[in-house]
Order: sequence, then structure tokens, then C-alpha cells
Amino acid sequence: MRNYLIAGNWKMHGSTSQVKSLINGLLAGIKQQTALSDSSHLEMLVLPTFVHLATVHDLITNSPLILGAQNLYLGAQGAFTGEVAGAMLADVGCQYVLIGHSERRSLFHDDLALTALKFKAAQEAGLIPILCVGETQAQRENGETEKVVNAQLDAVLTLVGINAFKQAVIAYEPVWAIGTGLTATPEQAQVVHAYIRAQLMKNNVDIGRAIRILYGGSMKAENAASLLAMPDIDGGLIGGASLDATSFLAICTAAVNSK
Ligand code: PEP
Repeated sequence: MRNYLIAGNWKMHGSTSQVKSLINGLLAGIKQQTALSDSSHLEMLVLPTFVHLATVHDLITNSPLILGAQNLYLGAQGAFTGEVAGAMLADVGCQYVLIGHSERRSLFHDDLALTALKFKAAQEAGLIPILCVGETQAQRENGETEKVVNAQLDAVLTLVGINAFKQAVIAYEPVWAIGTGLTATPEQAQVVHAYIRAQLMKNNVDIGRAIRILYGGSMKAENAASLLAMPDIDGGLIGGASLDATSFLAICTAAVNSK
């Protein structure tokens, strides 16, 4: 059975005091709900900005919350002004890192090749990459969803091979649903999740079956249960709703109560 992963992508949000109060809110809520603190079927992950990683790490030590980052650069160190290496993220306690988020792809020129290299760099640093894939509204309307998602997967598969997906997570995030309030219906999301799993199973049945595929795109307390009930949806990558402790924990509770 695949464990759920509920991941909060805080994007470029939060002052130190806001981050502390968000974490304190999460920890207090988790303490009150033994279903969350004791669940062996749920991982709860927070993805703050680089500058808040160490603060968050100190606050969540010995709690069920785990830590990840939103991006990395290639290599272990070097003359790359403004960048952060995977080894540095691991050193401050990160276990996961987002790779190829649509905002990275569209705003910061993380193309297919660079995204694949970042996936590899994450694993070389001992981090679990969460590879984000998804189509734009125009691509969906042109019937290109599978073609786009396949190209995004294929760029990584070609570089690292299927075995690398043993230690990876995929997030299907339709770009038109990110931060827009529009959500894919559970059925629309399930179709693409099943497609992604089938593509990986073509390469290796066991790896395709075991990999966790998260849904991202305006997931919130109100729609989480129906999305998480789908057979190939193994969690959520949450943007806006992860900035509010009550909302994020409601999604975590929906995961614990699901399936
Ligand atoms: C995201 O940032 O990955 C995301 C899904 O954002 P939101 O939940 O706000 O749509």
C-alpha cells in the first residue's frame, strides 16, 4: 500500500514570525489529533523558502512534520552566485525537494533538460525529488495533456532510467489549476494519474505500482477528500491552502480518513 504524502509548498511567502506561528499552529493541531500524529499511512511535509529552512527544521525536530525545499541547483558546490546545492539542503535537514514546478518551468527557464539534471542532482545529494508535471489550459484544450506529461517524464527517464523512480515522487499539477481556484475534477485528475502510472509501469511494473503520484492545483479542505479517494491519487501538493494551519491539517485529516 502507498502511504499518502501531503506537501505544503509555501512558495515565496512568510516572514520569520509568520513561519514560526504557522509551524506552531501545525504542531498544536497535530498534537490534538492522534489520528494525524500516530498515522503510519501519512507523511506531512512542509516546503518553506531557503531562508526559513533552518528555523523550520529546529521547530519540527521530533515531530511528525518533515522538511523539504522548493528548488536546488546542480552540483555540490561552486561558483553559482545565488544558488543552493542539494547537499546544502540535506545538511539543513531536508528530505525532499520539488523539481520542475510549473513556476520554475515558466518563469525561471527550467526546461526539460535542466529539470532532468536537477532530478539527478537531488538524488545524488540523498534527497527525494518530487517531480512536477502538468499541462497548460491551451495544451489541454488541444488534446495534448498526455503528450506534454509524457515529454516531461521522458526527459527524466532518459537521463536517469526507471530505477531512479524507486526513490521519487511525482506531482501532477495541471498548470491551469495552480493558484487559480480552479481544480481538476477527481475524474479528470484520476485519468492523468492513471496515465502517468501506466507510463512508468511500461518501464517497470513494480516501480510504477509503488510510486506516489500527488495531485496539485487548488486542493483545499473542501475538495481534498474526493480527490484523495481516487485510486491513483496518493496525496497532494498544496500551495495556497498550506499557508493556513487549519486548512492544511484538514487536508491531512482527509488523507487519513481516505480509502
Ligand atoms: C502549487 O503551488 O504547487 C499549488 C498547487 O498551488 P495551489 O494549491 O495554490 O493551487
